[in-house]
Amino acid sequence: MSFIGKVYLVGAGPGNPDLITVRCLELLKQADVVLYDRLANDELLKFCPDSAELIFVGKEPDKHPVPQEEIIKILIDKAKKFKNILRLKGGDPYIFGRGSEEALALLNEGIDFEIIPGITAGIGASAYSGTPLTHRNLVTQSLFITAHESPEKNESQIQWELLAKLKNTTLVVYMGASTLKWTVEKLISQGMKPDTPAIIVQNATMSSQRQFYSSLFNLPEIVEKENIKPPIITIIGETAAFSDRLNWFQRKPLYGKKIVCTRAEDQSSSLTNFLDQNGAIVINFSVIKTRLKTPEQSLKRTLAKNYDWIIFSSENGVRYFFQLLYCENLDSRQLSHSKIACIGKETAKMLKDFGLIADFIPSSFTSSVFVNEFIESIKMDDLILRVKGNFQKDLILETLLEKGFNVEPIQVYSIEKKIPDNTLFKKIINDKADAYLFTSSSTVNNFFQVFGNDQALKLLNESRVFAIGPVTRDTLYRYNVKEIIMSETYSIEGLGNTIIQYFSKI
Ligand code: SAH
Repeated sequence: MSFIGKVYLVGAGPGNPDLITVRCLELLKQADVVLYDRLANDELLKFCPDSAELIFVGKEPDKHPVPQEEIIKILIDKAKKFKNILRLKGGDPYIFGRGSEEALALLNEGIDFEIIPGITAGIGASAYSGTPLTHRNLVTQSLFITAHESPEKNESQIQWELLAKLKNTTLVVYMGASTLKWTVEKLISQGMKPDTPAIIVQNATMSSQRQFYSSLFNLPEIVEKENIKPPIITIIGETAAFSDRLNWFQRKPLYGKKIVCTRAEDQSSSLTNFLDQNGAIVINFSVIKTRLKTPEQSLKRTLAKNYDWIIFSSENGVRYFFQLLYCENLDSRQLSHSKIACIGKETAKMLKDFGLIADFIPSSFTSSVFVNEFIESIKMDDLILRVKGNFQKDLILETLLEKGFNVEPIQVYSIEKKIPDNTLFKKIINDKADAYLFTSSSTVNNFFQVFGNDQALKLLNESRVFAIGPVTRDTLYRYNVKEIIMSETYSIEGLGNTIIQYFSKI
């Protein structure tokens, strides 16, 4: 049998998508087929080409997992037809991941393979909880064990009596929360000191990570009291005591805070990243989406008028404007006659990504400040192009027209309502969020439409509500939202900093 393909057994790291390897990313981008488990973060799949076939082979709730033989059969079958087959595994493929079984089976069939290591959950849990696995003069060895064995099994493969007596050792235990009680009993009955320091790390390296420091003896009680669900790693040994000082992840300003972000789905990444980097559990709840709108007249003809100024007031405006330009096979040289004004930092940054530096940015990022300062910088007979979306009210356009300026609008995108999927809906209703963020009036309007007025108001009034600026805040007030915290400077960065300041005070 001849195979055209190669199988890559790839470690996808411990859960946080930022912790994959460069090689893993490279392979994801050129995958023809991807077989993935539950523990390999689904978010990684967005790097795959649209044409890639994605096959879930993990265990779904209430269902049996795809048997190992079946996985191997799929790999063999795909290797006959495709070039790059990725077998994505949580953590590292050779640590409790059955990667070696798959590699041996591939070898048997004569299929070419490569192994790409990943950060295993135990290493991730160690770094992110502040529990070093070795420490000079204290711990000289570390053992990775799995205790998935059932307590009924008479002959254990684990030599508990040896493990319990090891000195200067850190034990890294991979297993579900239910077998922990039995493991602790075994270790203590074989002579390990009940007051040995230990730590449970749940959802290691992810924003939802929780960690619980305890003595070995108290571990089972903590699991019950704190309702700890898998996946967990338990680290047992003297260095667990370091975690109260080395717990850098837990000390992030927004650690453990559930924050609902309501921006447009294609626009939320800078805010999401900022919150994520500061430790928040971000729930992206996009209630709007934007779409390119082709104007009646070509951009080439519009720009032939040689506008003196072009005004952009959002990242979307810039992005869609350039998309249109490129569609007509044009580039930024078409703007060489014009000066560029933009409303804020994010828009200016987006312009820079397209190679343009804004000539005018107001001192404060609201439409009214923009207009007041902008008219000081221009001549009465300047010809101005206002790039915009399909919003009904456009303060910038209206005020400039009122004041007699020569301004023409061009609509390059439209904002549409987006109905989020059902699981997200339930998540928002059932898991109480610590904060809701609104970055435009359209997200507010659609949030109330999507949930209905009563439900939306209840959700918001029971949480904290942050608005990017006065226009968004006033829209929230119109819906009777009681307390609104407004960003000090009207930008994504400003909003992020306001949130951090707020939560560090309470
Ligand atoms: N090959 C994987 C391990 C697979 S065994 C690796 O190298 O990490 C599955 C066990 O890994 C789970 O029962 C749990 O103990 C552990 N695990 C995986 N991801 C985890 C995470 N993010 N947090 C805590 N434990 C995790």
